[in-house]
Amino acid sequence: MRTVQMEYLRPGEILEEQRRVSIVYLPVGPLEWHGPAMPYGTDPLIAQALARGAAERVGGVVAPTLFLGTERERPAYILENKGFEHPESMYVLGMDLPKNSMKSYYAREDMFAVTVREHLRMLVQHGYKLIVIVNGHGASGQIASLKRLAVEFSNETDSRVMYAFANICPDGEPEPDFGHGTLVETSLMCYLAGSSVQLSELPPRDVPLKYTDWGIADSSVFRPGKPESDSVIFDPRDATYERGEAFFRTALDHLCRDVEAAYRAL
Ligand SMILES: [Zn+2]
Repeated sequence: MRTVQMEYLRPGEILEEQRRVSIVYLPVGPLEWHGPAMPYGTDPLIAQALARGAAERVGGVVAPTLFLGTERERPAYILENKGFEHPESMYVLGMDLPKNSMKSYYAREDMFAVTVREHLRMLVQHGYKLIVIVNGHGASGQIASLKRLAVEFSNETDSRVMYAFANICPDGEPEPDFGHGTLVETSLMCYLAGSSVQLSELPPRDVPLKYTDWGIADSSVFRPGKPESDSVIFDPRDATYERGEAFFRTALDHLCRDVEAAYRAL
């Protein structure tokens, strides 16, 4: 096929591919602050690249990326983990910390779910056997909404809807720290859209990146319990193209394996 992206395909091409492999991918993620060095579309762009890779390998087409996502207010323990002194009096939505120069494009959770629901309805109407939601954003409300819709649509329509998130854990090895705007995502973007990453926007490597200052964070910040440092450990300034390529290949292998298994099981 010329391209796997639905918006560039003619009706005849879309239908021909659907007869061959009846899979459509829906990449989803918000425009979101990932620190000053990273593009705003990091999450949806990673999801889009994975969806494209899976469609090229397994088959099917990729629906236009839904640049939309949601976040909830941060509970006090996460703000405390980040190092804020009076978390109980703060209102922080997702990664939008007070020092960030710009807010993220977070939709309200109910509006997000309604919009995704409408996209799923249209893809069901087209008769796809398997619809794969490729989620690029790790917020708990986003994941819960998407998983709930996947279960509902799989049981109430003729399509199976599958939920997928980038799994960067190589088989048998410990899971790399996914974090937010840290080593993994920065490496992925160096590989996928290197000209959009500008590490010189961050201070020199020997200056610690405090969680309170940069709106980026290791995974430990989001878990209960105090993290071992007040600054980023999995440093985005160590990101490389090669690391990004390795993370991406692992994630793509996992996604393709899961999609093939789901399609075979229909
Ligand atoms: Zn992200």
